[in-house]
Amino acid sequence: MRTAYFGAQPGNNRPMRIVLATSNPHKIEELRHIFAAESLANIELVGLKDIPGTPPDPAETGATFVENATIKAREYAAWAGVMCLADDSGIEIDALGGRPGVISSHYATDGRETGVTREARDAANNARVMRELQGVPVEKRAARFVCTMVLAQPDTSASGRATKAGRVLHIATGHFEGRIGEPGMAPRGENGFGYDPLFLVPPQFTLSAAELDPNEKNRLSHRGHAARAMAAFLRGM
Ligand code: IMP
Repeated sequence: MRTAYFGAQPGNNRPMRIVLATSNPHKIEELRHIFAAESLANIELVGLKDIPGTPPDPAETGATFVENATIKAREYAAWAGVMCLADDSGIEIDALGGRPGVISSHYATDGRETGVTREARDAANNARVMRELQGVPVEKRAARFVCTMVLAQPDTSASGRATKAGRVLHIATGHFEGRIGEPGMAPRGENGFGYDPLFLVPPQFTLSAAELDPNEKNRLSHRGHAARAMAAFLRGM
């Protein structure tokens, strides 16, 4: 059993350690960058690979972004013995009744993981969206990216030991409103990932999210908004 470590406490100057529920170094760097821009000092962000041992692989069985991010944050916090920040994100398309939603990363296979590369998955997902929106007029192609971040801490029993699942401290959600381009307008752009080449950015709807430079995307994006809201909460802790 790990001993919980909460880092910064009154009377000590240790940074507050937070494990991010990801092994993706780009996501870790992106969040470090956003937190630094928000003047968040004395917080040490680490990835799952920085914690000794084999991380659990929680099943993302939730019906919402909040539920999935909560499952990950609580389980990794309990495992790591430090606070955990987990996110879940995706795209909701009005004309598709809010789909792909929580199955955004595997929409082409109705949510099933197939082991193909991220690039192949993205291409198949985008092709399915364009196919399903065939003939849908521009004013009915509204869509939004959503990102929910959940911060959990290990729940400690009276003995000071971490119990099975962590406790949620805060939930922050960000949105990025736009529309899915019509054929001829989308796909376009080389940056980003996922549905970015299909997603036209307001107010002009002439550029896709894959044509924004990374700083501009951070400023506008669902992830940027959620991360800044989470940073504001952490600053107040
Ligand atoms: P995850 O939260 O990293 O698992 O992302 C879920 C899926 O949502 C990704 O695989 C993408 O398909 C989609 N998605 C989430 N955020 C973005 C974004 O910023 N651009 C494009 N696609 C995104």
